[in-house]
Amino acid sequence: MKEKHPLLVVKNLSVEFGVGSSTKLQAVSNVSFEIGTGETLGLVGESGCGKSTLVRALVRLIRPTAGQVFYGGENLLQCTSRRLKEIRPELQMIFQDATASLNPGRTIGKTIEEPLRVVGVTDKRDRTERARSMMHAVGLDPDQIYERYPFELSGGQCQRVSLARALIMKPRLLLCDEPVSSLDVSVQAQILNLLGRIKQRFALTILFISHDLAVVKNISDRVAVMYMGKICEIAGAEDLYRFTHHPYTEKLLSSIPNPEPEQQKKKARINKQGAVSQVTPHLGCRFYPKCFKAQSICKEIEPELTTIKNRQVACHLPL
Ligand code: SF4
Repeated sequence: MKEKHPLLVVKNLSVEFGVGSSTKLQAVSNVSFEIGTGETLGLVGESGCGKSTLVRALVRLIRPTAGQVFYGGENLLQCTSRRLKEIRPELQMIFQDATASLNPGRTIGKTIEEPLRVVGVTDKRDRTERARSMMHAVGLDPDQIYERYPFELSGGQCQRVSLARALIMKPRLLLCDEPVSSLDVSVQAQILNLLGRIKQRFALTILFISHDLAVVKNISDRVAVMYMGKICEIAGAEDLYRFTHHPYTEKLLSSIPNPEPEQQKKKARINKQGAVSQVTPHLGCRFYPKCFKAQSICKEIEPELTTIKNRQVACHLPL
């Protein structure tokens, strides 16, 4: 559950990319949220909405255009490269394509050991023992797998290797960028269960990104919904699935298959409408062309993220 002191506080973060000589693409626009120590925040939205760009900007793999990112009270966007290097082991990422994130010419054992070598752990025996311990922690048998190569492993096993490589640095914050999207449903469930267990065992705080609301629900304490570079709703996971305030969240929920005919009719109503470009964003709400509730105010004034009861919503006409 969310604790009193946030581990990560993001304030008004924006990331823009140049498109041609004069146009800017607003990949992330004025995003603010926080993650409590020990909390799992799910970040959900369609592919291309800016989720991955946001996560990379948090750890300065991409330089943000504006905003602040406080980790344990320290602004990551202002600290020196040397200080960032000291902090980075505490902030570990795992990626969607685990197989591609592993060096194909390096054995699994060496892959998991490598971060220790990079930070100066020179005792090979110590590195090996810690790598083997991490393999056990993620459900891999080191006797079977230590000398193997990534191409000999399944997608699920490769994701476990990625996790072991991240955990060996004893992170406090784990940034998971679509970690189960490329896996079969049964393997997805195994990896999600594993994440839940290692979160408890290693006292982790997690930012979990997915385009799939059903996946996010299973692992998150709270969920932030993102659309075209903006956060449109943040709520407790159970609350969000019970009742949504933002029409886009409603649309996302409606994309989850439902066997009830009446619910399917409702989905058809919610899912019609058009599209906008992030390169030339509207003055008003970015969801306006697709929104079944839109009024003229929505086209003219961009809604701010405001608190309604125990959640935050960016909508002039919340549901
Ligand atoms: Fe729809 Fe208007 Fe709310 Fe945007 S502000 S989501 S267009 S109702």
